[in-house]
Amino acid sequence: MPRHVTEESRTTPVLLETDVLVVGSGPGGLAAAVGAAREGAQTTLLDRYGCFGGVITQVGVESVAWYRREGTIDSEGLGREFEQRAKAMGGTQPESQSLSEALDPEMFKCVADELVREAGVEPLLHCPAVTPIVSDGRIGGVITESKSGRQAILARRVIDATGDADIADRAGAPCHVTPSSETLGVTVVFSCSGIDGRRFLQHAAERRPTYRDWDQAWEMETAGKEDELFSPYLREPFEEARRAGIIPEDMDSIGGTWGRITPAGEMTYLNMILLKGYDCTDVRDLTRAEIEGRRQALLAIEALRRFAPGFEDARLRTFGMTLGTRDSRKIVGRCELTAGDVLGEARFPDSIGIFPEFIDGYGHLVLPTTGRYFQVPFGILVPRGVDDLLVAGRCVAGDRVSHAAVRSQVCCALTGQAAGVAAAVSLRDGTTTGRVDVTRVQAALKRQGVRLF
Ligand SMILES: Cc1cc2nc3c(=O)[nH]c(=O)nc-3n(C[C@H](O)[C@H](O)[C@H](O)COP(=O)(O)OP(=O)(O)OC[C@H]3O[C@@H](n4cnc5c(N)ncnc54)[C@H](O)[C@@H]3O)c2cc1C
Repeated sequence: MPRHVTEESRTTPVLLETDVLVVGSGPGGLAAAVGAAREGAQTTLLDRYGCFGGVITQVGVESVAWYRREGTIDSEGLGREFEQRAKAMGGTQPESQSLSEALDPEMFKCVADELVREAGVEPLLHCPAVTPIVSDGRIGGVITESKSGRQAILARRVIDATGDADIADRAGAPCHVTPSSETLGVTVVFSCSGIDGRRFLQHAAERRPTYRDWDQAWEMETAGKEDELFSPYLREPFEEARRAGIIPEDMDSIGGTWGRITPAGEMTYLNMILLKGYDCTDVRDLTRAEIEGRRQALLAIEALRRFAPGFEDARLRTFGMTLGTRDSRKIVGRCELTAGDVLGEARFPDSIGIFPEFIDGYGHLVLPTTGRYFQVPFGILVPRGVDDLLVAGRCVAGDRVSHAAVRSQVCCALTGQAAGVAAAVSLRDGTTTGRVDVTRVQAALKRQGVRLF
């Protein structure tokens, strides 16, 4: 039985009041805030760290749409706008395996600042939300704990875009956590300087890694049509390092993909460490994974220096500000998205947007090379038992295989934009998020440039 303390009840000052409060600012939360504000709602966006952007800026994950090929029918809306806006601000380079742009995570901090400013969203950084304010089955804001102390934010609508459904869970909405033995794994993303990009790319062109290689390392089965396509994937240097005793023989968590090579000789977004067995809703597991991830990143760099042409003079440049989580807690929604839906081009009357048939995880790698897509239903944003609360991003409702699709940044932006717009429409119509007229949400999304069908 864990030990407990009983906290005294206390009176908490109100920091601000807002119509729509978005907690968390990854692709889901950023899109939710901009979507709500563009729909005319007074909106506040808060994040626990010092920048907006979530996994993009805090972990360093750049490949916002690496799935996009000729023939892909893609989502339209804020996800696409993030990419285009970043490009217009000089914050992208062409992504190596797709028809998309790789985001520069540092520049994306400024892109997000601009989007927030232009939309008239009130920004709050360094402001972790610790607990929701709930009464009579509806949420009315959150308590925050920041350098200003413990403060309340009162809100008529709240969007949980924390990635881990922290607010929904603490508000009492039913949720489930993927057991740590079954999760997709966590990653400490890092970047290196001192790369001879020309030499490295020449070797990669000769070796020509493909998605078929993913099966060996990550036990990911493709749909077959992906097998011969180029993937920026590295495994061989680590195998050699294992044979040379640089990496312990039983450590099979090192190997993965690279991102951009900059003109300054940096290689960014090294997604090379995949650690299994950690529960990202457990602070001790998060601590262990951060430390182990950094330790393994140094081993990976040593292996690359020894066995990857072009890496001879490489040095560690950065770690992501935080560990990257792929899956943790998800809500039980009004509707649950399934493997059958994402693989079977599902259509829903409450569609809030389309997402291509792109699945990356739980043993599946399917790329949208053929124009197939599914519709995303509004019901996966709606938690049970707590009204005026919506979720956005990777914590929306659904099974594992559907998670491997909706966790993509563009799909997180899609659910975020819809959550923000639905919150604003519910306010305008004097109803709640649980009872909002979805046809009116769809009309507003269409006006914002979202492709629904
Ligand atoms: C290593 C890795 C590689 C990936 N590669 C790709 C890829 O190549 N392409 C792709 O499309 N997707 C990729 N993904 C998946 C994708 O990046 C995530 O699923 C997506 O960013 C989730 O978006 P989100 O908005 O739900 O949450 P997040 O991006 O996790 O954002 C959550 C935000 O909430 C904030 N927050 C959390 N709790 C609180 C709180 N209590 N108070 C205030 N703020 C809080 C966090 O600081 C963060 O800003 C990858 C993920 C990882 C980890």
